[in-house]
Amino acid sequence: MKLTPFELHRPGSVAEASELLERLGERAVIYSGGTELLLVAKMGLTEFTALVDVKRIPELRQVSANGELSIGGAVTHREIERSDAVLRGWPALAEMERHVGNIRVRNMGTIGGNLCFADPHSDPATFLLAMGGELTLQRGSAAPRRVAVDEFVRGPYMTALEPGELLVSVNVPALPEGARVVHRKISFRERPAITVAARLEVRDGSVTGARLAVGSVYVRPVRPAEAEGLLHGADAGSVDLAAVGEAAAAAAEPVEDLNGSADYKRQLIRVLTARVLAEALPESA
Ligand SMILES: Cc1cc2nc3c(=O)[nH]c(=O)nc-3n(C[C@H](O)[C@H](O)[C@H](O)COP(=O)(O)OP(=O)(O)OC[C@H]3O[C@@H](n4cnc5c(N)ncnc54)[C@H](O)[C@@H]3O)c2cc1C
Repeated sequence: MKLTPFELHRPGSVAEASELLERLGERAVIYSGGTELLLVAKMGLTEFTALVDVKRIPELRQVSANGELSIGGAVTHREIERSDAVLRGWPALAEMERHVGNIRVRNMGTIGGNLCFADPHSDPATFLLAMGGELTLQRGSAAPRRVAVDEFVRGPYMTALEPGELLVSVNVPALPEGARVVHRKISFRERPAITVAARLEVRDGSVTGARLAVGSVYVRPVRPAEAEGLLHGADAGSVDLAAVGEAAAAAAEPVEDLNGSADYKRQLIRVLTARVLAEALPESA
């Protein structure tokens, strides 16, 4: 299917973008890398006649590390994977980004576009949930607001973004000494069938902090509380990986789709959770 004609606007600030979105109303949509937007447009699923390209807004194009890491919403996967600041302080994030889609998707697609599209099969959403990431959202010249990734992703293709609001940056906390982060996925087609990420803190041989996220099997990524509970306070050398995997699978409500049945996905959760933890806790049994 061919694209219908549209106007292209290229604002240079958040205020200008929000003003355009307000003035143009429902006929305008935000455009970043276009890898999702143009796909759905070609399928005839959109009705926009104006695109507001946010790639020229300076705040959305920056990566900076000042305690926490701040990544502009229009920074591409490829730029994140190659960023010195990311490679130095958040190497697990660079590694996760290196495995998103293919080189064409990573060259064009942005982290903001990934999160705002809210496809349930998202590597960054799962990774950031485990990391405790937050997003800075802003409309016009109003004060920006910060929301946790957990609150932002509401369901398939649904987010906490309000009309005219932009995802300005993704904020990733600094990792304390001894923290280990591992993100892995299993894919049978282009997008992941399951994503699991773990952020563990280990002090004096004990797990002192644990955040797990399981994504791409349900409408949004979730944290399996009981599985995290089994990790908190455990001896890092003798974590029962199978039990934690089982708890993560029991907490899940997988959705059957082309990647497999709900039971099959529970099995994927068991296996991948145990594998991720085996990497994050190399001494464990
Ligand atoms: C072949 C293929 C393979 C893929 N594989 C993977 C994979 O393995 N893992 C994975 O996680 N993802 C995967 N993806 C998804 C990919 O990561 C996203 O397509 C990409 O990141 C979207 O970014 P974009 O800039 O192109 O978004 P766009 O298409 O420009 O926008 C997507 C949506 O977000 C909105 N939007 C964009 N930026 C902003 C902003 N700053 N503020 C507010 N709203 C905004 C747009 O209005 C639109 O609704 C794959 C995609 C394809 C096509």
